[in-house]
Amino acid sequence: MRDFSADHRWLSINTATVRKQRGQDWPLPQILDACAARGIRAVSPWRDQVAAAGLDAVARQLRALGLELSGYCRGGMFTYADAAGRQASRDDNRRALDEACTLGAPCLVLVVGGLPGALAGRPAHRDLGAARAQVTEGIAALLEDARERRMPLAIEPLHPMYAGDRACINTLEQALDVCDMLDPRRSGALGVAVDAYHVWWDPKLAAQIERAGQERLLALHVCDWLVPTADLLNDRGMMGDGVIDLPRLRGWVEAQGFAGYSEVEIFSAANWWQRDGGEVLDTCIERHRRCV
Ligand code: ZN
Repeated sequence: MRDFSADHRWLSINTATVRKQRGQDWPLPQILDACAARGIRAVSPWRDQVAAAGLDAVARQLRALGLELSGYCRGGMFTYADAAGRQASRDDNRRALDEACTLGAPCLVLVVGGLPGALAGRPAHRDLGAARAQVTEGIAALLEDARERRMPLAIEPLHPMYAGDRACINTLEQALDVCDMLDPRRSGALGVAVDAYHVWWDPKLAAQIERAGQERLLALHVCDWLVPTADLLNDRGMMGDGVIDLPRLRGWVEAQGFAGYSEVEIFSAANWWQRDGGEVLDTCIERHRRCV
């Protein structure tokens, strides 16, 4: 297992971690500058942040700063209530793929969607099985586009508390079942993003990481699980402040040959988003050395 204690060579910042500090948007170009100034070598930006700054401008800035991507957030949301919804999802995912290519991302991260309409507060039905079937169908279609562009797809299982509205793939086992069905040759075109926040509780986690193997382990996201957690979406903890055994998890992933970035992804409305962005980045560096 790699020693992270001496430097932050393998730290990446998911830019949602510092997207809105003290109520003010922190624009992506400034986040990138602040990361580069601290010797952070990789980021994972969100599509809305990239759109606000301009895709080509962001690509140029990344190159000028020598910043790599550890992923691109995000594609997915495959579930739909009607034919128009299905087409809109396909079109949007193709655009996400193209953006990921322009930015030189190693993979497009997929948050697959829950019951159609639920995120907007109007679920079209209660058939989670049907939603899951639509997700598999959507990933199968996108996989063809992804292969053409040589852009790997990383399915991110989300904690089961999000099954209704955000993602009906909720365990690594479920994600890997989809991978095995759609990419049985383990070509590298389809894999998973392992986010500690979503999967740390799973009794099958170690076995499923081993099942995934190097070809399917495309991204590692870290933060911590606070006890208690006050908000289901926006109360993620800084590494070291909660109950996830992050070194153990990283050890399992690296035992399979994963040698990529550990990407810090913290949504924290009441704590870390209330601080100066530079302070948050400095804390990420320090905790990455000591707690990941
Ligand atoms: Zn994540």
